[in-house]
Amino acid sequence: MDGNLTCRYDSTGQLVALLPARCKLGRHTLAHSQFRAVVQNGEAHIRCLACAADNSDHSWRLTSTTPAPDRAELSEERYLELTRHRPLAALGSR
Ligand SMILES: [Zn+2]
Repeated sequence: MDGNLTCRYDSTGQLVALLPARCKLGRHTLAHSQFRAVVQNGEAHIRCLACAADNSDHSWRLTSTTPAPDRAELSEERYLELTRHRPLAALGSR
Protein backbone atom coordinates (compact mmCIF):
# COMPACT_ATOMS: atom_id res chain seq x y z
CA MET A 1 0.00 0.00 0.00
CA ASP A 2 1.13 3.50 -0.76
CA GLY A 3 -0.62 5.28 2.09
CA ASN A 4 -4.02 6.16 3.44
CA LEU A 5 -6.89 7.61 1.52
CA THR A 6 -7.81 10.98 2.96
CA CYS A 7 -11.42 12.06 3.18
CA ARG A 8 -13.20 15.16 4.34
CA TYR A 9 -16.80 16.21 4.84
CA ASP A 10 -18.05 19.10 2.77
CA SER A 11 -20.52 21.74 3.95
CA THR A 12 -23.50 19.53 3.10
CA GLY A 13 -22.17 16.58 5.09
CA GLN A 14 -21.19 14.52 2.10
CA LEU A 15 -18.06 12.45 2.39
CA VAL A 16 -15.49 13.53 -0.18
CA ALA A 17 -12.49 11.38 -0.98
CA LEU A 18 -9.31 13.31 -1.71
CA LEU A 19 -7.41 11.65 -4.51
CA PRO A 20 -3.82 12.36 -5.48
CA ALA A 21 -3.69 15.09 -8.11
CA ARG A 22 -0.80 13.34 -9.84
CA CYS A 23 -0.37 9.79 -10.93
CA LYS A 24 1.98 7.59 -8.98
CA LEU A 25 4.90 8.14 -11.29
CA GLY A 26 4.31 11.87 -11.23
CA ARG A 27 4.16 12.01 -15.01
CA HIS A 28 0.58 13.11 -15.36
CA THR A 29 -1.76 15.48 -13.66
CA LEU A 30 -4.87 13.44 -13.17
CA ALA A 31 -7.12 16.44 -13.69
CA HIS A 32 -5.87 16.51 -17.27
CA SER A 33 -5.31 12.82 -17.90
CA GLN A 34 -7.72 9.98 -17.75
CA PHE A 35 -7.80 7.99 -14.60
CA ARG A 36 -10.04 5.50 -12.93
CA ALA A 37 -10.67 5.40 -9.20
CA VAL A 38 -12.26 2.42 -7.50
CA VAL A 39 -12.87 2.00 -3.78
CA GLN A 40 -13.63 -1.50 -2.62
CA ASN A 41 -12.74 -3.81 0.25
CA GLY A 42 -11.05 -1.02 2.15
CA GLU A 43 -8.70 -0.16 -0.68
CA ALA A 44 -8.77 2.69 -3.11
CA HIS A 45 -7.13 2.03 -6.44
CA ILE A 46 -6.43 5.03 -8.62
CA ARG A 47 -5.14 4.02 -12.02
CA CYS A 48 -3.55 6.41 -14.45
CA LEU A 49 -4.73 5.21 -17.84
CA ALA A 50 -1.87 6.91 -19.65
CA CYS A 51 0.70 5.01 -17.56
CA ALA A 52 -1.34 1.82 -17.82
CA ALA A 53 -0.90 2.00 -21.58
CA ASP A 54 2.86 2.01 -20.96
CA ASN A 55 2.64 -1.01 -18.72
CA SER A 56 4.25 0.92 -15.87
CA ASP A 57 3.43 0.73 -12.18
CA HIS A 58 0.51 3.04 -12.62
CA SER A 59 -1.79 2.48 -9.65
CA TRP A 60 -2.02 4.23 -6.37
CA ARG A 61 -3.14 1.80 -3.71
CA LEU A 62 -4.49 3.61 -0.67
CA THR A 63 -6.07 2.20 2.45
CA SER A 64 -9.61 3.43 2.95
CA THR A 65 -10.90 3.42 6.50
CA THR A 66 -14.12 5.35 5.88
CA PRO A 67 -17.42 4.33 4.31
CA ALA A 68 -17.66 4.66 0.54
CA PRO A 69 -17.31 8.35 -0.29
CA ASP A 70 -20.14 10.19 -2.04
CA ARG A 71 -17.77 11.90 -4.41
CA ALA A 72 -14.12 12.56 -4.97
CA GLU A 73 -11.89 15.45 -5.73
CA LEU A 74 -8.22 15.84 -6.51
CA SER A 75 -5.86 17.26 -3.93
CA GLU A 76 -2.53 18.75 -4.89
CA GLU A 77 -1.16 18.88 -1.33
CA ARG A 78 -2.42 15.79 0.41
CA TYR A 79 -0.18 13.27 -1.18
CA LEU A 80 2.97 15.28 -1.73
CA GLU A 81 4.75 13.26 0.91
CA LEU A 82 4.10 10.12 -1.07
CA THR A 83 5.20 11.50 -4.42
CA ARG A 84 8.25 13.27 -3.05
CA HIS A 85 9.14 10.84 -0.26
CA ARG A 86 9.27 13.60 2.27
CA PRO A 87 8.18 13.30 5.88
CA LEU A 88 4.74 14.61 6.80
CA ALA A 89 6.23 17.42 8.84
CA ALA A 90 7.52 19.07 5.70
CA LEU A 91 4.05 19.48 4.29
CA GLY A 92 3.20 22.81 5.89
CA SER A 93 -0.33 24.16 5.97
CA ARG A 94 -3.29 22.15 4.83
ZN1 LIG B 1 0.54 8.61 -15.39
